[in-house]
Amino acid sequence: MTAQLIDGKAVAKTIEAEVAQEIARLGFSPGLVAVRVGNDPASEVYVRSKAKKARELGLHGDELILPKSTSEADLLAHIGHLNGDDAVDGILVQLPLPGQIDPRKVIDAIDPAKDVDGFHPVNVGKLHLGRPTLAPCTPAGVIRLIESTGAAIAGSNAVVIGRSDIVGKPMAALLLQRHATVTIAHSRTRDLAAAVRNADIVVAAVGRPLLVTREMVMPGAVVIDVGMNRLNPGDADRVAHDEEKSRLLAKNGTVLVGDVDFCRVREVAGWITPVPGGVGPMTIAILMRNTVTAAEWRRR
Ligand code: NAP
Repeated sequence: MTAQLIDGKAVAKTIEAEVAQEIARLGFSPGLVAVRVGNDPASEVYVRSKAKKARELGLHGDELILPKSTSEADLLAHIGHLNGDDAVDGILVQLPLPGQIDPRKVIDAIDPAKDVDGFHPVNVGKLHLGRPTLAPCTPAGVIRLIESTGAAIAGSNAVVIGRSDIVGKPMAALLLQRHATVTIAHSRTRDLAAAVRNADIVVAAVGRPLLVTREMVMPGAVVIDVGMNRLNPGDADRVAHDEEKSRLLAKNGTVLVGDVDFCRVREVAGWITPVPGGVGPMTIAILMRNTVTAAEWRRR
């Protein structure tokens, strides 16, 4: 059996179409501001693509770019200004921030009603209480990918590998809300293979190539690979099988792989996400979805 591929680009397009329709129905353009401090090249690409996608779908997408030397007080003042600006429905601050700024203070300063990343403690609390909230984009995107397979989440055994605040923990909460029996595995888990072997749904969010192997995966399982490991071409021999090397070589000559041994796990899983083209495209689409939801809720 070869797993069916979950096409993240196609599911993301569906969400983007829903967002565009909803904006047309709302009759106004919700505003999203992406804040970037400093000139980290990866952050620059992310922030620009978020603002660009926002504009494409009919939102007001703006970037606030601040110098690397910005003080914590200055950034908090900018956040305060955005909180008070009625044209702004969603605020996101691109992480990581320079060392002089405490990211927790910044996240705590964002109005929870505008916290489209879903990182504010109020929104985290609501998520864990099972109340309606703005959920973090990547795990919310993973739920949409699982739903796209038609596999039942309710009653399933799900394992989430990784317990970060932005992926693992909210992922587990979202699966639990949908009535899965959830195991959270992490670096201290004694027998990862045993935890994964029992799972109908596997979500890997670690940042370690080849962590999830064929031997671990239950035949027919839904396997979602959140991991994004960018490696040098020289590492391709270590992490990729011959048949996939050309597919994995990115345009810039680096190799992008997830946490799952895709080529081999694919032979036993029921459904699987590729890297790239699986979870990656979902994150921005859900960010747009959250901005529209925030705009609707704020005006209600
Ligand atoms: P993170 O904060 O570094 O967390 C990694 C987690 O993996 C930790 O909870 C850690 O456990 C656990 N871990 C480490 N080694 C392990 C092992 N051998 N077995 C089991 N668990 C282990 O990372 P993150 O921010 O959650 O991101 C995880 C991955 O997802 C990264 O590759 C990242 O690039 C990717 N990502 C992708 C997207 C996307 O849009 N596709 C979005 C976000 C993140 P401890 O807690 O015990 O240390």
